[in-house]
Amino acid sequence: MKVCIAGGGIAGLAAAWALTKRGHQVTLVEQGSIPNPLAASGDEHRMIRRGFGSADGYARTISEAFTAWDELWRDLGRSHLSHRGVLAMSQFEGDDGENFRLGYDRMGEAYELYEPKEAARRYPFLDPATIRYAYFTRAGGALLCQRIASDLARWLTDNGATLRLNSRVDAIDADKGTVGLGDGDLIAADQIVVTAGAWVLQLVPELSRHLTLYRTFVAYLTPPDDLASAWADAPAILDIGGETGAYMLPPVAGTGLKAGASLVKRPACDPDADRVESHGEGERLRDLLSPPLARIREYAVARVRTCAYTFTADDKFLSYRRGKALIVSACSGHGYKFGAAVGRRLAEAVESGDDSSLLRWLRAEA
Ligand SMILES: Cc1cc2nc3c(=O)[nH]c(=O)nc-3n(C[C@H](O)[C@H](O)[C@H](O)COP(=O)(O)OP(=O)(O)OC[C@H]3O[C@@H](n4cnc5c(N)ncnc54)[C@H](O)[C@@H]3O)c2cc1C
Repeated sequence: MKVCIAGGGIAGLAAAWALTKRGHQVTLVEQGSIPNPLAASGDEHRMIRRGFGSADGYARTISEAFTAWDELWRDLGRSHLSHRGVLAMSQFEGDDGENFRLGYDRMGEAYELYEPKEAARRYPFLDPATIRYAYFTRAGGALLCQRIASDLARWLTDNGATLRLNSRVDAIDADKGTVGLGDGDLIAADQIVVTAGAWVLQLVPELSRHLTLYRTFVAYLTPPDDLASAWADAPAILDIGGETGAYMLPPVAGTGLKAGASLVKRPACDPDADRVESHGEGERLRDLLSPPLARIREYAVARVRTCAYTFTADDKFLSYRRGKALIVSACSGHGYKFGAAVGRRLAEAVESGDDSSLLRWLRAEA
């Protein structure tokens, strides 16, 4: 089958990988480079973890995601998952930090629970006076997105797929099965896969009924010198507790120490607009990390990275069929960790035409 994929983030790249493995003739079109620094998948690292709070469906599906990544590492000849484990903490009763722990309990996921003083002994960047407890799970850590993208692009080229980089899909005729590019080229395909991330509404405007676009940013931080070694060995931080929805990724394999928070996202109209950091954004995000981080003002903001992404109302992933085009969005801020599995499932659906099984799986209702 000839398959044309619009969008070379993790979903498009992984779909291209899985379809190529199944013997299909794949052309992947990406408007930027791979990795594309403006895409959600283009950042240095993303967290993979077993904690999903009340979303038990995804807590179950994540096992398949780990297996799919293992298959990818075998094909690439090396792993891009840094197994640092995952830490979280609670600041007050019923906060997200506590909800993630309750999710672990329901799923039977083992964790080590630390009193505040013990947590600060193990992780000296924490202020023990500000937390009720911290807990650590071994499963999970950081996925090195930029390395994954580069290696996947290389694997695809080596295995016969065609990559059209810096080439924009301008129009999709889902009935005829054609994809029109900005340079005037027309690609004919038996099936079209649209994995356009934050740009999907430009190609499939009717999805605005289900998807809302947001602009957010992450901050890369330089810790004070005497805390650098604690961070160098630190796990990923799933949630700092409290009400900011803040998380952190430690420096791993040459990446920086990164922080993000659900509190700083805001609705947007255009994924390409407002992509330059505004004055003081990084410091504002940094300051949300205290509590529970100690000495927060001693952290320098090294750089800020803006991001665009879409959310569904229930934070679940989405697929949608229009003629020969299958549109998939593993969105709502938690899709990267499922990337390799999304690619495999997408390839299965392209072959079988069983869109409803795909949607059930994407919504973790299978
Ligand atoms: C700040 C932030 C933190 C996150 N943290 C995590 C995390 O820790 N763990 C996790 O699992 N998930 C996380 N996510 C979510 C995760 O990054 C996304 O779910 C995932 O990367 C989406 O991948 P995608 O391939 O669907 O979309 P994208 O990565 O956005 O890729 C879409 C691609 O399509 C291309 N494209 C779009 N339109 C066209 C066109 N017309 N023609 C050609 N190419 C086009 C774009 O250039 C882009 O490269 C986070 C997201 C953000 C924004």
